[in-house]
Amino acid sequence: MRLDVVSLVPDAFQPLLGLGVIGRAFAAGIAELHTHNPRDYATDRYRKVDDLPYGGGAGMVLKPEPVIHAFEAIPVLPRRQVLMMSPQGQPLRQADLQRWAETADQLILLCGHYEGFDERIRGLADEEVSIGDFVLTGGELPAMVIINGVVRLLPGTVGSALSLEHESHSGSLLEHPHYTRPAEFRGQVVPEVLRSGDHGAIERWRLEQQLQRTRERRPDLYARWLALQDQDDRGR
Ligand code: SAM
Repeated sequence: MRLDVVSLVPDAFQPLLGLGVIGRAFAAGIAELHTHNPRDYATDRYRKVDDLPYGGGAGMVLKPEPVIHAFEAIPVLPRRQVLMMSPQGQPLRQADLQRWAETADQLILLCGHYEGFDERIRGLADEEVSIGDFVLTGGELPAMVIINGVVRLLPGTVGSALSLEHESHSGSLLEHPHYTRPAEFRGQVVPEVLRSGDHGAIERWRLEQQLQRTRERRPDLYARWLALQDQDDRGR
């Protein structure tokens, strides 16, 4: 997958290349990262990328020309998706990451700064994405969140596809607890069932844990799971 980031601070993305399995996916060519700085497309002598808001008010606004010229210089692949980082966008979900990993061959991530984008830049985007109901200074961290979440789903990045299938947010329930050796640490013992070798009992225990965790921590997800079960039962 080709990833193109439009950002005023392209160096912010360098750490991704050394980030464990994500870094190795870039080194192996599973994904490639290209950055594009709107400042390189500014035409005035000060390479200005922002200006005062029409109508007055606090802060500066990202000018349309440098961002749109930077965007237009990016090669276009057949299944590209253009994402604008915005606290006003749709909240990011695991299902979005899965959809992009499965259907797109190119993601363009537009990172805002200052008070945000001139409204005319919005027309470039297929989707506006928010990583949560809070405001950051720029779109770089949201773009890195998306890149991390998508690249780990690309075939070959994570060793076992099974580990992706059973994790939190891949279905409607949160994942069950995990334990590894030692069997006892400071008086805390690994549940007997996990050491029993009884695969049926282990599966049942894990599902019970998933249900309990989801009910306690995310009643909204639990209600959705119940509704899906109900639909399945009625479909039979
Ligand atoms: N004035 C804008 C508003 O109230 O909607 C906020 C602008 S914010 C300071 C600057 C840039 O950071 C945004 O254009 C966006 O690219 C990025 N950003 C900030 N918070 C974000 C979030 N929660 N999700 C995605 N992008 C965000």
